Amino acid sequence: MLATAGIFTCLILIDFMVYDLVILIKGFNMYDKNNVFAKILRGEIPNKTVYSDDNVLAFYDVAPRARVHVLVIPRGEYTDIFDFTQNAPSDVQMAFWTGVRNTVEKLGLRDNFRTVANTGRGAGQSVMHFHIHIMSDERFTEDF
Ligand code: AMP
Repeated sequence: MLATAGIFTCLILIDFMVYDLVILIKGFNMYDKNNVFAKILRGEIPNKTVYSDDNVLAFYDVAPRARVHVLVIPRGEYTDIFDFTQNAPSDVQMAFWTGVRNTVEKLGLRDNFRTVANTGRGAGQSVMHFHIHIMSDERFTEDF
């Protein structure tokens, strides 16, 4: 009886240790299926779509910080540019950048736009689903 309780306790401890190890290794890339962009992709939150295909969705930023401010996101579950470039198959990565290009062309910004990919909370990433900001604004000629 005592031995059974001991084995049971050991198994629970091992289970906790394995869980901690997984969090430690995977922690940075844990994808939250309830982030706002995941909800947009599932159609649970509306968006103003600019461009859409099988791999990519591009829509206007809800709080624009430039005259034109659009976000491009892959449909797959990737937290940031690191996760995306490390774990997305190469054809998916290629399709994403083609989607960025198609979005820019649709916006008519061929030679007048800026791309930004905030990565990590320390750099201001607030939505943990990989995205590229496409921005265009007259004042960019004076900004750095
Ligand atoms: P970042 O701070 O780089 O993670 O960018 C996230 C961006 O998502 C911010 O610029 C937000 O204004 C924008 N955003 C948040 N919620 C929504 C939404 N529901 N629709 C469109 N853009 C959003």
